[in-house]
Amino acid sequence: MRPAIFFDCDGVLNEEPGGHGVLGPDDIRLIPDAGGAVRAAREAGYLAIIVTNRAQVAKGFVTLAGLETIFARLRELLAQDGGLVDAIYFCPHHPERGTAGGAPDFQIACECRKPGTLLLRRAVADFDIDISRSALIGDSLRDIGAGHAMGLKSYGVRTGYACRDIERYSDRAPPTPDRMFSDVGEAVAFCIAHPGEYGQAGQPD
Ligand SMILES: [Mg+2]
Ligand SMILES: [Zn+2]
Repeated sequence: MRPAIFFDCDGVLNEEPGGHGVLGPDDIRLIPDAGGAVRAAREAGYLAIIVTNRAQVAKGFVTLAGLETIFARLRELLAQDGGLVDAIYFCPHHPERGTAGGAPDFQIACECRKPGTLLLRRAVADFDIDISRSALIGDSLRDIGAGHAMGLKSYGVRTGYACRDIERYSDRAPPTPDRMFSDVGEAVAFCIAHPGEYGQAGQPD
C-alpha cells in the first residue's frame, strides 16, 4: 500500500478564478510553486492525486472534451516544475435539475461531488492507498468534509476560498481543517516532515 496526497484543484494548485470557475485552459494560472509542491510530494513517496468538483459540466459551461483540455493545461504547467500528477478524479455532476443550457445527464445528486467521498474511494481502490499515511489539501470546507469522511488528515490552505465558505453550514457544524497553511507548498512540506502526525485542530481565519 502507498500513501497519497489528495489535492483539490482550483484554489489549491491553480488560482480560483471565482464566478463560474475555470471554463477553459487559459483560465489556469498556477498558485506560485504548486508544481514544486507536487514534485516534492512525489519525491517523498506520495502519490499525487487530484480530486475536483467540475459542476461546470452539469451546468453546460464546459464539455467533457473541454475539461480534458483544462486538465492537460494544468498537468503541463505543473510538469514545468517537475510536478507530475498520478491521476485526476473529477465529478461532472450538480444536483440542480433543469438548469437552462445545462447537461441533463449530469444534473443528478451523486456520491462523487465533494463532500461526497466516491472520488476518494475510487482512487483508494485503484491505487491501493494507505489512508492512515495519506492527507488531503483543500481550500474549501467541502474538501475538508470529504477528507474527514474518509478518515484522511485534511489540511486547509489560505489561497482560493481559504476554507471560509461556512455559509453552507448554517444548520450544522462546519468541518474543521486539521491545520491551516499559507499555501500548498507549506502544506506539502508539513506532510513530508510529519508523516505520522494528525495535527491539532486549526481554525480558518
Ligand atoms: Mg477549490
Ligand atoms: Zn458526481
